Amino acid sequence: MALDVGTVTSVALTWQAIDLREDPDEARYVADPSDLIDALAELASLLKRPAWHAQAACRGAGPASWFPGRGDDVRPAQAVCATCPVAEPCAAAGEGETGIWGGMSERQRKHARRAAA
Ligand code: SF4
Repeated sequence: MALDVGTVTSVALTWQAIDLREDPDEARYVADPSDLIDALAELASLLKRPAWHAQAACRGAGPASWFPGRGDDVRPAQAVCATCPVAEPCAAAGEGETGIWGGMSERQRKHARRAAA
């Protein structure tokens, strides 16, 4: 299982930031505890991801290109997918989902399913 270093760092830094001062009179939160909750939720999400995510060519690229709006160019995302060693499990995981999975748009996955049936 691979963890995102940025998320782990964020959790650690946030945890440190809400640590209470030694003097109880000066005790105060220096960060919003909800930041820690958000960071822990993200960490929990990462821990639930399947192992193949660690090999995804899109790791760290951000989701925007893979979830384009109507009329957006999908070729940049598909170019990355064309180099991806885990396109097959990705396409399977994308069943019923929106966006680009396994290098295919929703419509392309639908056609591929029909062709395979
Ligand atoms: S096939 Fe594309 S969307 Fe799927 S993991 Fe690889 S790069 Fe990411």
